Amino acid sequence: MLVVKVGGSEGIDYAAVCDDVQSLVESGQRMVLVHGGSHLTNEVATALGHPPRFITSPSGYTSRLTDKRTIEIFEMVYCGQMNKSLVEMLQARGVNAIGLSGMDGRLWEGPRKKAVRAIENGRKRVIRDNYTGKVENVNTQLLNTLLDSGYLPVLTPPAISFDGEAINVDGDRASGATAVAMQADTLIILSNVPGVLKNFPDEASLIQNIAVNDIDEVAEQHAEGRMKIKLLGAKEALQGGVQRVILGDARGGSPIMHAVNGQGTVIE
Ligand code: ADP
Repeated sequence: MLVVKVGGSEGIDYAAVCDDVQSLVESGQRMVLVHGGSHLTNEVATALGHPPRFITSPSGYTSRLTDKRTIEIFEMVYCGQMNKSLVEMLQARGVNAIGLSGMDGRLWEGPRKKAVRAIENGRKRVIRDNYTGKVENVNTQLLNTLLDSGYLPVLTPPAISFDGEAINVDGDRASGATAVAMQADTLIILSNVPGVLKNFPDEASLIQNIAVNDIDEVAEQHAEGRMKIKLLGAKEALQGGVQRVILGDARGGSPIMHAVNGQGTVIE
């Protein structure tokens, strides 16, 4: 079982990702695709007059401030254009993709964090109008039913809270939770960088291997912003039994194949 997460930052070659998914599915690989949509969401939110706001938690993790309007825009982009264009590209390649959000069939369920502590503009605040949370349960029965029937699940946030509200969850951690629940041996997280860079943004400084016990140290010393959360997702996946997590580059051809062959940052 393979879980592939493709990010939503600028520069990602989704057609190349879909080409690889096609080859893998044709070769009989059981897999799930998870995607992001951050860059397009920022553009659409700005165009709609509700520009994105990001907060940093006291422990240094950056996340999107998600009020009700942001959830609506998030659904337009993630569940709408991003999800459906991936489904279309896969269908054009003969892959019977089915696009679902984490809310559909309670695929990704977890608690909503009602109050979030954050540092905004250097000041500590408690934010309550925030629809975010964390995936605790993955509906593996639904995923296995789809896989057994020959569909390729294409999954996207939001998830569903225990009270039935849409909650923004981190796509990297959600794909980690999915890999654990589905007992995947490999989780591939593709983004617009070659992997974890020792001196971001110097792409020649790629860290090729990280031992699971060194993840925290690497995250602390080298990762900023969103890369920290990717490493947290990788750690959670490995602690949950996934054998290897590869952080790879999705800006060029054969991104999944390259990652499978160990190009990028391999964590095991
Ligand atoms: P995606 O939306 O594709 O999942 P993110 O924007 O969430 O991607 O995360 C990838 C980003 O992490 C990179 O574009 C880069 O700006 C940032 N980053 C921070 N520190 C590092 C690092 N040490 N190595 C690589 N990328 C890093």
